[in-house]
Amino acid sequence: MAGIVVVFDFDKTIIEVDSDNWVVDELGATDLFNQLLPTMPWNSLMDRMMKELHTQGKTIQDIEEVLKRVPIHPRIVPAIKSAHALGCDLRVISDANVFFIETILKHLGIRDCFSEINTNPGYVDGEGRLRILPYVDFQKSPHSCNLCPPNMCKGMIVERIQAKEGKKRMIYLGDGIGDFCPSLKLREADFVMPRKDFPAWNLINKNRTLVKAGVHEWTNGKELEHILLQWINTINIEESQLLSMENCKFQTKHNAAHGALPRPLPTIIDVDSDNWVVDELGATDLFNQLLPTMPWNSLMDRMMKELHTQGKTIQDIEEVLKRVPIHPRIVPAIKSAHALGCDLRVISDANVFFIETILKHLGIRDCFSEINTNPGYVDGEGRLRILPYVDFQKSPHGCNLCPPNMCKGMIVERIQAKEGKKRMIYLGDGIGDFCPSLKLSEADFVMPRKDFPAWNLINKNRTLVKATVHEWTNGQELEHILLQLINTINMEESQLLSVDYCKLVTMSKAAHGALPQALPVPY
Ligand SMILES: [Zn+2]
Ligand SMILES: [Zn+2]
Repeated sequence: MAGIVVVFDFDKTIIEVDSDNWVVDELGATDLFNQLLPTMPWNSLMDRMMKELHTQGKTIQDIEEVLKRVPIHPRIVPAIKSAHALGCDLRVISDANVFFIETILKHLGIRDCFSEINTNPGYVDGEGRLRILPYVDFQKSPHSCNLCPPNMCKGMIVERIQAKEGKKRMIYLGDGIGDFCPSLKLREADFVMPRKDFPAWNLINKNRTLVKAGVHEWTNGKELEHILLQWINTINIEESQLLSMENCKFQTKHNAAHGALPRPLPTIIDVDSDNWVVDELGATDLFNQLLPTMPWNSLMDRMMKELHTQGKTIQDIEEVLKRVPIHPRIVPAIKSAHALGCDLRVISDANVFFIETILKHLGIRDCFSEINTNPGYVDGEGRLRILPYVDFQKSPHGCNLCPPNMCKGMIVERIQAKEGKKRMIYLGDGIGDFCPSLKLSEADFVMPRKDFPAWNLINKNRTLVKATVHEWTNGQELEHILLQLINTINMEESQLLSVDYCKLVTMSKAAHGALPQALPVPY
């Protein structure tokens, strides 16, 4: 994925309040705080307040409890997780302190989304008192930026990141006076997202000619999520234009000669799970003997009976399934597609026991809303039974492209009937994936695995396929192409929304005026 650095301010950007004020107010020390505020710098005052709270008998646990109930908009955590899943490098630059920020991010389960937290140091001393120190030792070596408070110049931190990350593009989100200086450091290819009606937004509006980055205001967590993901998508698309021609081989057509078509093969996992279990448990010969005598689905049920007779247990089968080979980019691709709000489903001619076992083992079962496959269950004797998805003795499905137990095309039609105009991306490789490819509409995409049966059939029958075709060869290409298609569709779909919703480039070119002293608002 493209390299994007996303920098978040913390107070009133990630959380809804100022964490310093929150702790002081919740622990009942507001009056003392207000008395002392005119007498010392904010950062020194916070260290002093922690001393007062400690003297009053407030413990670190009391502070942690208060931090854990800090208010946050419900779309902030999903926004951060999505940006992380999309491969962005997320960082915090904040004038709060490391103890407050770490406590809250860990509590929210998003600490690991961030590669770096730039903030004032903090630690619990031997007496159990929280000490808060300045990020910059302004007595010894002042930072010399006169836009910023003495203990921290966020602009210098941005410059350090730029020096290290080179041409990586940056998105900066903030609200306070201290977020104005770093906004001036951003380049033309970057974006700044100031919170509307907050000090940074006011300063940026009054000094638009000084800001080189694209400006995009936001008012709440929902807008933050929408705008942030839209910009990430935009940047990713721009960055991938260069890559796509050589890497993705869009719309390649090969008129390969048709040959003997083997059975459905791998898409999510790198093998056929039925063959994998049979081979790993040493029943390949018997399998090959019986194959000409019955349908595949019935044969698998029979093989489970044979394995059971030979003393192989459900646990043996599970162990084999858990070591099934999978390309390392498949799980991240699925998690990213899920984080981007896609509705993921499985349509497979394997069986529910194999699929559930593998997806749960990979930690991605909850990414899928539906698994359409042959039923399976463990009977009273501990034998795995595998049944056909369609009872072809009683009510055959009537599609002559598909095996008797399952027509994937009919499942696609059922989804289309229920989901209306929602667009579909279909990934597959086997003969059984050709029929559903024919059901897709012009706005849809089919991603057949290159040199596999579905790809051969699609190439030989291109006039029958209405959807756009994108081939892939391995998990890395699958991830790249899938996320690119999702981005493209999301951009197309959001065009209609964006005019009234996002107010792109809304900010007026207000006359520039006096700088920081204009705003008495605390940051
Ligand atoms: Zn500065
Ligand atoms: Zn069919």
